[in-house]
Amino acid sequence: MSRLVEQVPPGKAVKGALVVGQRAGGEEISIIYHILRGLNPGPTVWFNGAIHGDELNGPIALLQLSQKLQPEQISGTIILTPVSNPLAFAARQKNTPHDLLDLDQQFPGDPEGTLSQRIAYQLFHVFGTAADYIVDSHTVGHDYFGQPYTVTKKIRQDLQPAFEQAQKLAEIFGGAFHCSLDFSENLNEVPGNVYGFLDVQAQLQGKVAFMVELGAGGIHQPDAVRFALEGYQRLLVDLKLLSSKKNPPASKLPAISIKKRYYLYANTAGFLTFSVQAGDFVKKGTLLAEVTDLYGQKTAYRAMHDAFVLINRNNAVVETGDRLFFLGESWNDANGGKK
Ligand SMILES: [Zn+2]
Repeated sequence: MSRLVEQVPPGKAVKGALVVGQRAGGEEISIIYHILRGLNPGPTVWFNGAIHGDELNGPIALLQLSQKLQPEQISGTIILTPVSNPLAFAARQKNTPHDLLDLDQQFPGDPEGTLSQRIAYQLFHVFGTAADYIVDSHTVGHDYFGQPYTVTKKIRQDLQPAFEQAQKLAEIFGGAFHCSLDFSENLNEVPGNVYGFLDVQAQLQGKVAFMVELGAGGIHQPDAVRFALEGYQRLLVDLKLLSSKKNPPASKLPAISIKKRYYLYANTAGFLTFSVQAGDFVKKGTLLAEVTDLYGQKTAYRAMHDAFVLINRNNAVVETGDRLFFLGESWNDANGGKK
């Protein structure tokens, strides 16, 4: 266990700032953490937020969770980092403004690299190595709308037990969808270094790790915050860090399992009007959206397969290559059979 986490005495809650660099004017760049060490032994759980600086529902829920937790009622250790990319957070944007990198593609980080690589290194080696369980809280991008969903990633066959545990915890956390992706196949659903994701690198270190997507980006959604707060508490009860007397009721969202996802990108530009929204099920051929260019020419976008709409764009202006929808396929129904 890293020294910062280990030095918190049993029965104590410590809040502090982990310095990761300096600004030209001399100000420190630091990550604020809350570490709550229970009186009784137990596992260590790390709830991380705002690895993307404009994803706000998770950090707000983590601050509410910190208020509710009392170390004397905890068995184990809880680490909260509400805002893990303070530079992107201050800039109200996804990526770190200083090196334009996506912090979530830099793990396990580099102590002598760019700022994002250094932040990733500190997060991973100070909090990640201390944790048995890691939940990384995201939202969809700030031009998009989506209901809460979870994402678990299968990396390698020999890591299957931890992956299955992550799947079980994701279901307990709750969500409208549970995306369970096979990274052992060639999976090209998002651009960039997907093996640099925090949850991927954490699994390679033997941790149980997954992502939660907590609604829309760039705004505070009280419903999504409440959903997240209850999800974190359910996990802590399931892992026996908290007594079951504190267990919130199970999530009421439908929890459909998604095995494969794809973005539908715009090939044309102009104004977007959409016919479906996040949470909808669409049959192959269904009209999803139209884009009208400035000559008045309309282009229809239709579903290529039967799919669930995971996220939809909420920005009415579209250019070539913009993402219109994120669609999910290959699900099992509640009985485990193919629909
Ligand atoms: Zn994110």
